[in-house]
Amino acid sequence: MKYIVLMGAPGAGKGTQAKLLQQRLGLPQVSTGDLFRYNLSNQTELGQLARSFMDKGELVPDDVTIAMVRERLSQPDCVRGAILDGFPRTLAQAAALDKLLAEFGGHINLVPYIHVEESILVERLVRRALIEGRTDDNEATIQNRMRVYLTQTAPLLTLYQERGLLVQIDGDQSIETVHEALCQAIAAA
Ligand code: ADP
Repeated sequence: MKYIVLMGAPGAGKGTQAKLLQQRLGLPQVSTGDLFRYNLSNQTELGQLARSFMDKGELVPDDVTIAMVRERLSQPDCVRGAILDGFPRTLAQAAALDKLLAEFGGHINLVPYIHVEESILVERLVRRALIEGRTDDNEATIQNRMRVYLTQTAPLLTLYQERGLLVQIDGDQSIETVHEALCQAIAAA
């Protein structure tokens, strides 16, 4: 079993890289952002609930998010592990993930941290807003997502660093170069 947790600020390229790794490693990408957006577009109860938080750039409550991830990681395609993207985002989620993986007889194998300077991140998100028209890609929401990231998610970097799981990847390079750097880090783990 191999569980890889991709970390990085909004706009760092986690989603893009997780998709490439999914192909390369044959492990499913589990993205909480994608799961919430799927529920939104299918107008499920979970989607309705998540919408109010997402549109403001706030985090969806931990209990809801954790239950969704538990359900996803229990699917048969995740028996060999998964590439987690966008989860965990809080210390409570990190603790829940440890517990969940222990139940499955696994643990986090590596936490690649895709690092990109903040000014570049905001530029990227504004551009993505124009292209994709995501409702949470407007300027006020982007600022809030950055704030939420710095206060709630960045502390996880210290946690994983202390456990010796964190490996920093320079995210301000071409998609292919970042992908190769990730593959090397994973192969060496
Ligand atoms: P980005 O990485 O660009 O910020 P995501 O697609 O990962 O965007 O997430 C979009 C939104 O979905 C977040 O702003 C948040 O509202 C919600 N979300 C995603 N993952 C989580 C999570 N682990 N916990 C709580 N909310 C989440």
